[in-house]
Amino acid sequence: MRPLVFLRVAAALWLLLAAASCGSRKESDTRPVIAVSFESQKEIVERIAGDEYRVVALLPPGSDPEMFDPDMRVMKALEKAEIYLTTSTLGFEQQVGERIRANYPSLKVTDLTTGIDILMHTHELASASGAPGGHSGCMEDADGHDHGHDHGREERHGASSHQVGDPHLMSSLRNAETVARNVAEALSALNPANAAEYYARCSALAAELHRDDLLTDSLLTVSGAKGGMIVVMHPSLSYYARDYGILQLPLETDGKEATPRQLEQRLRLAADGHPLALFYEAGHSERQAREIARSLGTQAYPVMLNGSDFIGRINDVTHAIAKGATQQAAAGKSLPAASATSNQDK
Ligand SMILES: [Zn+2]
Repeated sequence: MRPLVFLRVAAALWLLLAAASCGSRKESDTRPVIAVSFESQKEIVERIAGDEYRVVALLPPGSDPEMFDPDMRVMKALEKAEIYLTTSTLGFEQQVGERIRANYPSLKVTDLTTGIDILMHTHELASASGAPGGHSGCMEDADGHDHGHDHGREERHGASSHQVGDPHLMSSLRNAETVARNVAEALSALNPANAAEYYARCSALAAELHRDDLLTDSLLTVSGAKGGMIVVMHPSLSYYARDYGILQLPLETDGKEATPRQLEQRLRLAADGHPLALFYEAGHSERQAREIARSLGTQAYPVMLNGSDFIGRINDVTHAIAKGATQQAAAGKSLPAASATSNQDK
């Protein structure tokens, strides 16, 4: 081999090796670790903790929170963590909690849902009553969205688990604000020397969330969307629907596709409600969602159940709903008398 060729080959090999060892760069990150369940929580913790900690989300982006089975990788991530911040609403979080108690009894575990009014039975309700109002609770794909719904989760993960709530917490800017305050408190307990910084960053984030909450509320009010219906393949927008007086009608039952008969019944309800928009889990059932939306005279939009930029995703949902309401108003359609039945369970 000529020297020049040899040098080029050596350089290429070195680059390949460097790329392959990306993982080892992480190994060199010696910051203390905070473990969280989802990407959306990771965003909040990073905003409040600054660069001081490495934040690890146990649920891989895009995976279904409600179907996720925590493997060895998850337990390995916890091995190095100083604290695990959980929402305790998902079956996998309960499993992880049990394993922590068995394997890492000294690891701190803090529930970020303290102060949040958790919706129950939202995923079940869809199948139990078929009544639109009930659905507002839950089944989402939320944090990532098609999750494996938790509601069904209970059965999946054994009789030992207790009833879990709607896991799509982060579809609500108000819930996110509470989560942020809980994160600041947990970090301050972990590292009291930096408490003032954590609370300052938390206040900035809370102000941003509060501003977006007000904007969301006014956009929905001005567009005439309040009291209107949205159709969701999976009930991932239950908290959003509760916060803003929107009626959520899910087409799924306990995280499974509805039977043809159930689907027919719900589509009849949906048609009566003149839905403002239809939401489906990004990457799933897109064609079916678009066909259903067309038959209902509305538009289909993807939502991510477990992904980054949760604030941006909530804003996208708002704009889609407001657009539907504006178009309906322009077309002279009257909104259904849904406000009478919407969200009565909350
Ligand atoms: Zn769900």
